[in-house]
Amino acid sequence: MDLFSLEDWRRTHFTNQLTQELKDERVILMGFVGNVRDLGGLKFFTLHDREGFVQITAPRSKVCEHVFQKIDKLTPQSSVAVKGKVVIAKQAPRGIEVIPEELKVLNEAITPLPLDPTGRIKSNLDTRLDARLLDLRHPRQKAIFKMKHEVTKKIREFLTKRGFIEVQTPKIVATATESGAALFPVTYFEKEAFLSQSPQLYKEVLTGCLDRVFEIGPIFRAEEHDTPRHLNETTSVDIEAAFVTQDDVMKILEDMIVEVFSHVKTTCSHELGVLGRDLEIPQKPFTRISYDEVLKKLDSVGMKIPWGEDIPTPAERTLGELMGGAFFITDWPTTIKPFYIEPKEDAPHLCQAFDLMYGGLELASGGTRIHREELLVKRLKEKGLKPESFESHLKNFRYGMPPHAGFGLGLDRLMMVLTGLNNIREVVLFPRDRRRLFP
Ligand code: ATP
Ligand code: MG
Repeated sequence: MDLFSLEDWRRTHFTNQLTQELKDERVILMGFVGNVRDLGGLKFFTLHDREGFVQITAPRSKVCEHVFQKIDKLTPQSSVAVKGKVVIAKQAPRGIEVIPEELKVLNEAITPLPLDPTGRIKSNLDTRLDARLLDLRHPRQKAIFKMKHEVTKKIREFLTKRGFIEVQTPKIVATATESGAALFPVTYFEKEAFLSQSPQLYKEVLTGCLDRVFEIGPIFRAEEHDTPRHLNETTSVDIEAAFVTQDDVMKILEDMIVEVFSHVKTTCSHELGVLGRDLEIPQKPFTRISYDEVLKKLDSVGMKIPWGEDIPTPAERTLGELMGGAFFITDWPTTIKPFYIEPKEDAPHLCQAFDLMYGGLELASGGTRIHREELLVKRLKEKGLKPESFESHLKNFRYGMPPHAGFGLGLDRLMMVLTGLNNIREVVLFPRDRRRLFP
């Protein structure tokens, strides 16, 4: 028998599926070695898999000598397969353990390891991210990504029910959607292209044929951020719908946020417990506060922001403290929002854009979009952009583009709120930032 190969061995249960009802049954478990203990005539180790762990107990009197010997040589985090019998053991967690009949070491882990996946010895985030595979074996990290799976699943289900079709738009693009400064160039044969900052222009065009679309995909931002809430590659939940305005998509966003929070609260109670998070479901309707009112509020606590400027991070934080929870900022100055946002008809210095905030953190930006070419060209020029560079986009507006609205929601920012973690790197498997391109 080849020591390192599975052969016909297949897992019969994850460790969390082992119950007292399986008493005396033979099971096959696959996973990673945790603690190994040797009490002379009695050896133990814990076997960890994605769903939990179980104690493997080997009394010399009950197991084969070769199995008994192998336990001695087990190194933490090696991958193993165990064939054994479930027994009732009052002293063990969940009242059961497994007596091994056969043990395969599938791949031996080195010692010492760069970090302790049990978390008993704390490592800093950089060390953890450098050895992310080991780090992700920790129950806390597994809880984050199981929760993320539930979140994307719920978003897909929610938007599908609301008549949205999931789409995929190109990530290699020829022009910027927002501003040229924040783009990563790529060599595209004999031309220069860029990684997409946002599916904005494509999703807008798709409302002209597919009516309501959404995409959950990567966006690339080349700003040299070095903050706990920015990455250079992040996942965005983008939606766009035809024949509606910002008020309609704000309601959709609000409903979606509340449903996601409720779903997490009911399906991820274990994960929330692991993270020590007591999740409060935001109440609808979320407060709507205009940009002007925001400036007044900040002014009243001594923070003066000149009209027409974006709200700087410290002011966002203060605003978050004053407002608490989820709220919308509306009626933004036209000059600080992108060219494709529809100005207000009665007050064109303001536009039909909104941001969704949660405390001091921006979760989403959206608005009613311009659907007439003439105005779009005017706004491009006012922004100092060349309409010629947007010709392949602009021509769509000659084919009867409908009025439309949408938003982009940062999935990783949403995960920060749901988990209560304050560094976005914690909620991304393999984060990309100014200094990190590996692993
Ligand atoms: P911020 O002002 O926080 O830098 P933004 O206004 O530049 O964000 P948008 O272009 O409005 O970002 O993108 C829509 C959403 O995508 C944001 O509200 C945010 O949740 C998320 N997002 C944007 N850029 C990043 C980034 N670099 N890292 C993580 N999330 C981001
Ligand atoms: Mg924004």
